[in-house]
Amino acid sequence: MTQTTDRSEPLGLPGSPEPTSPAGLPIAPTGAVWRRLRRAGREHGRLLYGVVALYGLAALSALAAPWILGMIIDTVRAQGASSRVDLMAVLIVVSLVVQAGFTLASVASSARFGETVLAELREEFVRAVLRLPLGVVERAGTGDLLARTSRDIGHLSHTVRVAVPTMAVSVVTVVVIIGALTVLHPALLLAWPPSVLLLWVSTRWYARRAPEGYVRELGTYSDMTQSVTDTVEGAHTIEALGRQVRRIVLNDRRVGRAYAAERYTLWLRCRWYAPLQFGYLFPVSLTFLVAGLLYVNGSLSVGQIATAVFLSRQMVRPVDQLLEQVDSLMMGFTSMRRLLGVELAEEDVSATDAPTPGRPGEIRLDGVRFGYTDQEVLHGVDLVVEPGERLAVVGPSGAGKSTLGKLVAGVHPPTSGSVRVGGVSMAGLTPEERRGKVVMLSQESHMFRGTITENLALALDLPDGATKIDRDRLWEALAAVGADAWVRSLPDGLDTLVGSGNTALDPAHVQQLALARVVLADPDVLVLDEATSLMDPRSARHLERSLSGVLEGRTVVAIAHRLHTAHDADRIAVVEDGRISELGSHEELLARGGSYADLWHAWHGRS
Ligand code: ADP
Repeated sequence: MTQTTDRSEPLGLPGSPEPTSPAGLPIAPTGAVWRRLRRAGREHGRLLYGVVALYGLAALSALAAPWILGMIIDTVRAQGASSRVDLMAVLIVVSLVVQAGFTLASVASSARFGETVLAELREEFVRAVLRLPLGVVERAGTGDLLARTSRDIGHLSHTVRVAVPTMAVSVVTVVVIIGALTVLHPALLLAWPPSVLLLWVSTRWYARRAPEGYVRELGTYSDMTQSVTDTVEGAHTIEALGRQVRRIVLNDRRVGRAYAAERYTLWLRCRWYAPLQFGYLFPVSLTFLVAGLLYVNGSLSVGQIATAVFLSRQMVRPVDQLLEQVDSLMMGFTSMRRLLGVELAEEDVSATDAPTPGRPGEIRLDGVRFGYTDQEVLHGVDLVVEPGERLAVVGPSGAGKSTLGKLVAGVHPPTSGSVRVGGVSMAGLTPEERRGKVVMLSQESHMFRGTITENLALALDLPDGATKIDRDRLWEALAAVGADAWVRSLPDGLDTLVGSGNTALDPAHVQQLALARVVLADPDVLVLDEATSLMDPRSARHLERSLSGVLEGRTVVAIAHRLHTAHDADRIAVVEDGRISELGSHEELLARGGSYADLWHAWHGRS
């Protein structure tokens, strides 16, 4: 039987150890994130410089108001209210309008820059996900991938859209204000070192602990998503076994771990925020003190004191925002490590050997050993399937039949030994090359949301952007699997919408459509893992016979649960306890009187 649920967690038995979470997909090193960011900077350098320049102009124009205010105070003190003061007041209004204009332009251009980079990162991520080998997804669990696609993309979007622009504008503003204070009087900067020290120490304390905390926190979200996905996918099994409460307990435990991880990062933030608040408000009062002293020794006027205090006050907001966004930046950085990590996912590559001469469609297994865990499932399998041959694989449940099929399809590489198709080791091929050689069809087929035409066209190698599909070819494929009659009877025929939320198809019909896709894909080698199991025996046999006509010349490995499949095959391999115990034609194996003969007689007696 296909072990599709083996990746899932157990039902959560009371007292059982906490199920270990799947190994998960890799997380990229921090260096990879920096490299990617540098590349973004290089590729969109002009846009980036434009953004920084606009932020600089916005920050410069923000200086005008406090500066002019100081001048107004000095003018009023010297000459009383005059038309000059009115002019300066108008200038403040003008400077605020100019500042608003620059701010608007800088936010718009930084959004353009951010969205461009974000779109690229998303596209790269989607490409990396689509390239992921099936074996890797199986091992890592779909929950991890789901969490990365949803939460991590969300964090990254927030970082790019909000955190980075806010931090950029804050940094530029702080630099410009420091410049202005220096021009006013360099001694005014003395109000800042104690706070800078405090902010530096507390932020370092936080930054040392936070990344690890966030990696853990995001990891617990992956586990939680996996747990919920498993619960939803296995809902019927859980219900049938009456294990809802255990499942709830298990999910609660996962939520508890996510809660603890989130609490930890919250605790870090709480500890960090207190010195922050003090750190950036303290300098405002110190500025008063320093400016007062400078006034006493005649270095500053009253108006300049006002300007200095306004400027220091103006610095609070950007510093506050800067530090506030550090958190979001770290979260975004961690998410980016997790997203880039998907590209690093590699299969467990076994020794790949040089190609040997082989005919297209020939399958050759030499000394194949394999285990999902430390426990070996296949214990040294040797097998040669001739091009165009139909091999049926039979045997008791759990013997390793599906595993054998997966190895032929290259889903997993063997732990030792080699699997070659057409003389080429499957372990050395890219997932795309592998799919071009071997197509594997299991009993679970998926219909995507869309028309039947779209679902079938997935198997066609259409050039990018092609819209025209040869419908006659689709009908031929449907006829080959005996599905043309019922598709024609649908109100919209090939244009009927299927998949989630649309016309519900009978599971047997879904299998027929999946087989029609295989006919269209026309691979050299086809592995059928109980691909007709949901049909009634008579239709299944009929379908298999018509398929073999269509797939003439193609090598077919059919993992069979019904022995008529074996009867119709050229040869039969009996798999028992991870080994091929018998191999030969139906007649040969019957004559031999071994396991196959026993199975056949038992089955024949039954049917
Ligand atoms: P069959 O197809 O003959 O029923 P399988 O190849 O599905 O047998 O399974 C062979 C053995 O490998 C079984 O013990 C099964 O529990 C184990 N197994 C199958 N798939 C996985 C998996 N994804 N992870 C761990 N163990 C697995």
